Amino acid sequence: MTAPVPIPPLFLDRMSRLLGGEFPAFAAALEGEPVGGLRVNTLKLSAADFGKISPFPLGDAIPWCPSAFIFPLSSFSPGLHPYHLAGLYYLQDPSAMSPAALLDPQPGDRVLDLAAAPGGKTTHLAALMQGGGLLVANEIKDKRVGHLAMNVERWGAGNVVVANETPERLADHFGPYFDRVLVDAPCSGEGMFRKDMGARLDWSPEMVAGCAVRQRNILRVAGKLVRPGGALLYSTCTFAPEENEGVIAEFLREFPEFDVEALPLFEGFERGRPEWLEEKSEKQKAKNKKQKAQESLAGAMRLFPHRVSGEGHFVCLLKRKGAPGADRAGDERMPEMDRARRGLWAAFAADALAADFAADRLKVRGERLYFIPEEMPDFGTLRVVHPGVWFGNFKKERFEPAHPLVLFLRRGQAQHPLNLEPGSPALAAYLRGETLPSGGPAGWTLVTVDGWPLGWGKRVQGVVKNHFPRGWM
Ligand code: SAM
Repeated sequence: MTAPVPIPPLFLDRMSRLLGGEFPAFAAALEGEPVGGLRVNTLKLSAADFGKISPFPLGDAIPWCPSAFIFPLSSFSPGLHPYHLAGLYYLQDPSAMSPAALLDPQPGDRVLDLAAAPGGKTTHLAALMQGGGLLVANEIKDKRVGHLAMNVERWGAGNVVVANETPERLADHFGPYFDRVLVDAPCSGEGMFRKDMGARLDWSPEMVAGCAVRQRNILRVAGKLVRPGGALLYSTCTFAPEENEGVIAEFLREFPEFDVEALPLFEGFERGRPEWLEEKSEKQKAKNKKQKAQESLAGAMRLFPHRVSGEGHFVCLLKRKGAPGADRAGDERMPEMDRARRGLWAAFAADALAADFAADRLKVRGERLYFIPEEMPDFGTLRVVHPGVWFGNFKKERFEPAHPLVLFLRRGQAQHPLNLEPGSPALAAYLRGETLPSGGPAGWTLVTVDGWPLGWGKRVQGVVKNHFPRGWM
């Protein structure tokens, strides 16, 4: 348990001025229990089917995200359950499920998640895209991109490229390439005050002002990545108007080719509050009043913890006018397997797998074999952490499968798997990294929990050696 930290009084004063009569309910909600959410991985199973096997009682379905349920945060440890390791669900604040749902990506789209770590919205976008098209999950910070890669891996989507780039370098390379871009911006985190004591500690008016500058810079670059006719969704988990309506107002002044698209309101959702910007200086007020675009900011959406089951959020959808033009980025140029490697892969696949993968999507990077998205541009010199699903490595005389291949496999896609029951001593031993006694053919064996792919083992003389990654134990 983290020790409670008082909510910053300057923040409360300001919210009291902005919210007026609503403030007492808001302030009481901020001191209440945070609400959790569990979003089912619909790439692997439906929400209804998860409901039948869920080891924990689930709350109500979340209206704006039909694949998710309200979930009591304190009573269980769902992050430690083997179903979590098998990628059957993601734990996420219900409000944070609104951006991907409202961006509404389609299976054939080219989608960019510009600020993606740790990957909550990436996994949601990937599920909505049903594995089709291209989803670039980008994170600027080296330290955070590993966590993103791990969550993408767990999710088992076949259309995700994990990149570690600046927005500027992406825009220089791609230009207006993407059908949909999500900017889930770094923010002052006021919406997380209920569950994150660190956010309360870090907050200051100067921090809010600094975040607004950074957000304006990020959004300005993000606009250049959206194709004419495409959509840009901006979201934050903060209440500060200068980080929300203020950022959008400035963006619209600079990019008149974008309009705010009014979002549908689910129960408890509130409209954007352009009038909150009037709190600014007289000079700024006069400037703002000239801006007609300001009115359209009411098409944005605000989530407040006293009105919805979830934390604080802001979401605004921007549509770019016009028709798509020619692409700047050409097709990918990753090499295919040579004859010898094709043989090694085919031998492994024949022994261990019961699945076919499109040959033209199997590409090589160094020693690694990747399964790339069906739509794959050239990334040039951009820093790509994973250009798709890492299937494994070519060693001298053999192919060695990697963990992401496990999570990409569906039930029934392996030969002679070793199935372990949840709660069994054998499963606990496997997750501790121990070997397991098991008869059957020698070689790579998929270890499953209740039939859900969980990790690799290698059977040698009646013993399955453990290949579950140490970092996941
Ligand atoms: N979308 C993520 C999710 O749902 O799990 C959360 C993203 S978090 C709110 C914002 C991210 O923006 C952080 O991972 C942070 O490292 C990244 N970021 C920080 N500065 C940035 C910048 N200048 N440009 C792009 N991203 C930045």
